[in-house]
Amino acid sequence: MTATIDSSLDRTQLFIGGQWVDPATSEVIEVVSPATEEVVARVPAGSPADIDRAVEAARRAFDHGPWPRMTPEERIEVVARFSGLYATRMEEMAQVISTEMGSPISFSSLAQAPAPWMMAETFVNIAREFGWEERRAGALGEVVVRREPVGVVAAIPPWNVPQFTTMSKVVPALLAGCTVVVKPAPETPLDGYLMAELLAEAGVPEGVVSFVAGDREVGAHLVAHPGIDKVAFTGSTAAGRKIAAVCGEQLKRVSLELGGKSAAIVLDDADLAAVSEGIKFMGLMNSGQACVAQTRILVSRQRHDEVADALTEMLRGLTVGDPLDPASEIGPMVAKRQQERVNGYIGIGQDEGATLVAGGQGMPDGLDRGWYVRPTLFAGVDNSMRIAQEEIFGPVLSLIAYDSVEDAVKIANDSEYGLAGTVWTADAEAGLDVARQVRAGTYGVNTYTMDFAAPFGGYKASGIGREFGPEGLAQYTELKSVYTSVPEM
Ligand code: NAD
Repeated sequence: MTATIDSSLDRTQLFIGGQWVDPATSEVIEVVSPATEEVVARVPAGSPADIDRAVEAARRAFDHGPWPRMTPEERIEVVARFSGLYATRMEEMAQVISTEMGSPISFSSLAQAPAPWMMAETFVNIAREFGWEERRAGALGEVVVRREPVGVVAAIPPWNVPQFTTMSKVVPALLAGCTVVVKPAPETPLDGYLMAELLAEAGVPEGVVSFVAGDREVGAHLVAHPGIDKVAFTGSTAAGRKIAAVCGEQLKRVSLELGGKSAAIVLDDADLAAVSEGIKFMGLMNSGQACVAQTRILVSRQRHDEVADALTEMLRGLTVGDPLDPASEIGPMVAKRQQERVNGYIGIGQDEGATLVAGGQGMPDGLDRGWYVRPTLFAGVDNSMRIAQEEIFGPVLSLIAYDSVEDAVKIANDSEYGLAGTVWTADAEAGLDVARQVRAGTYGVNTYTMDFAAPFGGYKASGIGREFGPEGLAQYTELKSVYTSVPEM
């Protein structure tokens, strides 16, 4: 099976304020297949004028419409209906995402499409139990503590897990009573169209949700728009810093899910076969284009070569190819510039003196088009090297030797990032002990399975705030205390 041009993916309109409308300009985004380098769809490129229309509709719906004034139960009903409709189109969603950004269909069918559905279902359950209004025995009498919607939300997802990062914002925002303007990345506008159709079908009222795909200037216009109350952003740390600065100046609420450089700590008692299988998924998922990818593999000095051999064998056995072929384990990079960036880092690693033991620059065997890179392993890496410090966002792993468990924790923490991490050991208690010492927002012992009932996010330069769980829902609310007891004077 190969990616083919499917004109049914073409769109001529934007979804603004719950209606399909003509865009303000005739500018077009060409969605290019990373596998064939051919245009697979054309959609309108959103402009600042389109953003203005979307924010005005969202503002009107928030200030005067029914959505924020409905009961949580009424909103839950609509979101639950949306989630049910989404479930019926999951396979289509997986195909769309693999087509637009090149994720292997095995990963899209396992995670890109179903995980957002699980997320929506979990949020619906959380919303049913959430403390929307609490009567608290205060120091001076009863206080009513309310959670009210934060207002008009700008949701800005990246291209790597586009539906996942859109759902993680849209669903809690809707449940809280907010209205939302989504700005999908220009590489991945198509999954947003599908989501917009499903939201409309579920009966989300007029004005409540808009999708305007566009470039970073369009995103910056949305962030700075005076009609926006909160920005929910997932993307690079560089863009996150700029967005945080604007929100700081304007005192807008902001949550940031940013980059990572996570370490997998392999303790001496770990089962090597399990480590190798684990790294295959957790280090290389989505062709290495994952914020939580475990790309620094920390091993004791005496097991360094043995682990290098096991990982080399695993990497050489990977099937690299057409993302729409179910046999493919690694697909292309999202864009030519990303392919060049990853190959650039492979060159940097060699220049820095790391030992290239698998992969390297150039196209994988048997492929002559598409933005592929060879799954690559560097051994003998020092944690101060750029390949160990900077987010590469491709299938490139670094093996780093440690002298003691204490040293391993120190190396894991020697990073500007703090998004995720794993430890591999036969001793669950020893694993938990390591987990307690690593400064990261999420951690796995012999696994890394994101649980949507628990908070997710980063320490340090990996972000501010948390998505998922009741904590993720709370990010879309303001707290209000209402004093109802007249104290006796
Ligand atoms: P990016 O920062 O270039 O872009 C992300 C989104 O923000 C896009 O929609 C882009 O158009 C928009 N954007 C960029 N600059 C902007 C600005 N100044 N103002 C407003 N909008 C702006 O990131 P990317 O290359 O699309 O995504 C990859 C990055 O995302 C990686 O660093 C990855 O680690 C991170 N990521 C983090 C998480 C997480 O949950 N922590 C999840 C997925 C991806």
